[in-house]
Amino acid sequence: MKKSKTFLRATLVMTLVCGGCGPAPEGTEGDTLSSTSGRAVTFEEFRGTVHQDSRGRYIYDGDMVAHDLTELRQAWERMYPQTGALTVNQYNAALDAIWRNGEQLNLTYCVSNAFGGNKQAVVNAMSTAGAAWGAKALINFVYVPAQDANCTSANGSVFFNVSPISGGSAPATAFYPGTLRPQRTLDLDASVFNLQGWATLAGILTHELGHTLGFRHEFLQSGMCYAGTEPGGWRGVTPYDAGSIMNYPYPECGGFNSTGPSTTDHEGATQLYGSRVWVNASAPTGCGQILGGKGLDRGQTLWSCDGRFYLNHSPFGILQLAKYAPGPGGATVQTLWTSGTSGQPGYGTYMQPDGNLVIYSGLGRVIWHSGTYGNPGSGLALQNDGNLVIYSPQGQVLWTSGTWGH
Ligand SMILES: [Zn+2]
Repeated sequence: MKKSKTFLRATLVMTLVCGGCGPAPEGTEGDTLSSTSGRAVTFEEFRGTVHQDSRGRYIYDGDMVAHDLTELRQAWERMYPQTGALTVNQYNAALDAIWRNGEQLNLTYCVSNAFGGNKQAVVNAMSTAGAAWGAKALINFVYVPAQDANCTSANGSVFFNVSPISGGSAPATAFYPGTLRPQRTLDLDASVFNLQGWATLAGILTHELGHTLGFRHEFLQSGMCYAGTEPGGWRGVTPYDAGSIMNYPYPECGGFNSTGPSTTDHEGATQLYGSRVWVNASAPTGCGQILGGKGLDRGQTLWSCDGRFYLNHSPFGILQLAKYAPGPGGATVQTLWTSGTSGQPGYGTYMQPDGNLVIYSGLGRVIWHSGTYGNPGSGLALQNDGNLVIYSPQGQVLWTSGTWGH
């Protein structure tokens, strides 16, 4: 137990403080703010805090990777913006460095076959870690096993790869939003397969996936442990949380949680990426109706009570109503109505408590709606005659697909 912890602690000290692996930073941040480079830390100072691993890669900010000096310079430019400049990867209230163009809904990854006998453990832990972040926030980590045989940073068929690294300078390294494909690699050192007691592989991967979503170390907010050695350029999305998975679970860091996202981690992720509450957790459980507060996630289906019609939020984001008829030569499906939103894939369809039926994008933007807001207590009915109807609590028809008579 102590051994693993000591190993991790030692490597963290090495990568974060990195005594002896480069020139010491000169002066304090306050001194260098007025330096001629216009940045809080010069590139040379930054480089002096960076460790180079056995592959020649530069490990900065604890467990972030740059493959060459060009990438390292790009990382420095992002982390220490020029005074007054606005950079896409700047961590501040003006522009958070997060995935914001839909990538967060399809964060595909492979798990390298090179893990050998440890591969299944990585697959399982990645599943646990990805599902943990996606439980409350609109984030989807998607495993693509078909790419496992070619699971390297050169594989453009997945968003990132999970690969083993020998002699890694840290148990695990990850990447931040805004990085390009070659940098999007989550590397695991063999030490993560010998964890005893104090941490789990799923916990470590949850922490690393937190980085891939843009989260910095929580101890930056408390100022404990290595906070003074990490670059600036961050904001607290939620108040300091000692139990955050983004904290280090050591007494000197003030952290204790090494298993999964805390309640405030979920709150923070939801604030940045939107909430999933209105989709999966609220899918209809019966037939023929969706009451206020419930909805359909992508791929989910509501059937009419006679089983002849279904309303489906397709994987392509379109809401569609169809007539289903099984037959000796196979079932026939006749599309009766669609939301007509094929160019704008929706993430889910929600029957709001205010009576409005709404298709939302992954970031909560309204793509389509029935215009029936202002009618609290209304519900959506998929009738046995093939008609889709929104009824007020008094039974008044507020909206219909116009597909009755089947
Ligand atoms: Zn970390």
